[in-house]
Amino acid sequence: MKKSDTHRIATRLANAGRRKEWTNGIVNPPVWRASTILFDTVADLRHAVANPDDTLYYGRRGTPTQWSLAEALTELEPGAAGTMLYPSGVAAVATALLSILKPGDELLMVDSAYEPTPVFCDNVLKPMGITTRYYDPLIGEGIADLIGPATRAIFMESPGSLTFEVQDVPAICAAAKERGVVTLLDNTWATPLLFPAIANGVDLTILAATKYIVGHSDAMIGAVTAAPPVWEQLRRTTRLYGQHVAPDDAYLASRGLRTLGIRLKAHEENGIKVARWLAEQPEVAAVLHPALPGCPGHEPWARDFNGASGLFSIALAGGGDEARVAFVDALDLFGLGFSWGGYESLKLPVDPRRRATPWPQEQNLVRLHIGLEDPDDLIADLAQALARFRHVAE
Ligand SMILES: *Cc1c(COP(=O)(O)O)cnc(C)c1O
Repeated sequence: MKKSDTHRIATRLANAGRRKEWTNGIVNPPVWRASTILFDTVADLRHAVANPDDTLYYGRRGTPTQWSLAEALTELEPGAAGTMLYPSGVAAVATALLSILKPGDELLMVDSAYEPTPVFCDNVLKPMGITTRYYDPLIGEGIADLIGPATRAIFMESPGSLTFEVQDVPAICAAAKERGVVTLLDNTWATPLLFPAIANGVDLTILAATKYIVGHSDAMIGAVTAAPPVWEQLRRTTRLYGQHVAPDDAYLASRGLRTLGIRLKAHEENGIKVARWLAEQPEVAAVLHPALPGCPGHEPWARDFNGASGLFSIALAGGGDEARVAFVDALDLFGLGFSWGGYESLKLPVDPRRRATPWPQEQNLVRLHIGLEDPDDLIADLAQALARFRHVAE
């Protein structure tokens, strides 16, 4: 156990990854930009080649800027062996899957995953001879019935993108372990603060650090943190694919990380206040927020999570797409665009695509990211936009 493992999470957030030999006493690990690293002698060069993990060797292997971020993310996941960084969340998902699967294997993929994830399975894994079977996000321990002789890995995302079903991750991991199956989790919504994935039995936990880790909508980065049995193969595969993160982006992620705890608390508080208000409005048929009773998977959320972040969806009561567009366009304090996890509120009309389980397509969904603005201003904005929705829907 490292000394830092005894500290509570807020203390670890402030200190993780800030080794003196990487910072030289500067508070934030500086931006070390490099391709070539120069050595004084052939002996020094040979030493670096033999010790590539903690010696400056070549830019693609990183510098203290990236090492510090990776170490900090590992320290936030008790029980983890290490973290690899990627140029985006999608690259993190892809490389994590490729580190585990080989031709002939079967992957069980949750049906509520972030859309580029199944698109990768269908367009890259399938031609490689790796089959993907999609399963119901609420399957829980029933996953055991789907595990066959070729099943090599189970991919989870909890809560699911767009529809927010919380999965029974401990039950799925227990069933997987019994059969020697590797588990992967896209933990972007919760981050290790709200759901420590490795401690809950996950083998590979994935973050689109683009979202809450960076936290300011100004950089793209991905991360995969591994449990000891799969760490070496993750590291090896990542290097074989030449994955690398720019030190400037790693710096921004490290900087964002230091305030992740207080930002998430504010996203949670504002998000729940807005979600509860929305749940009482006649124009809103459903609020898909894991912290609200009635959201599918609310029970595992209450049991396993340390809180909620600020992203959820609402289903508008009828009205069709035209009324939905009117509602979204009428919102003034919410930006219209992809991604989320920055300090600002966002809105997006969304239409989930399902491959194995039915989804009522007539549901008129809008995804909201609740930022750090005053929630009463956001509620007032939503109220006037719902009036606009009503006007068009009638
Ligand atoms: C955004 C997102 C990703 C992809 O991250 P990028 O950095 O945008 O590539 C992966 N998973 C989830 C759940 C996401 O929301």
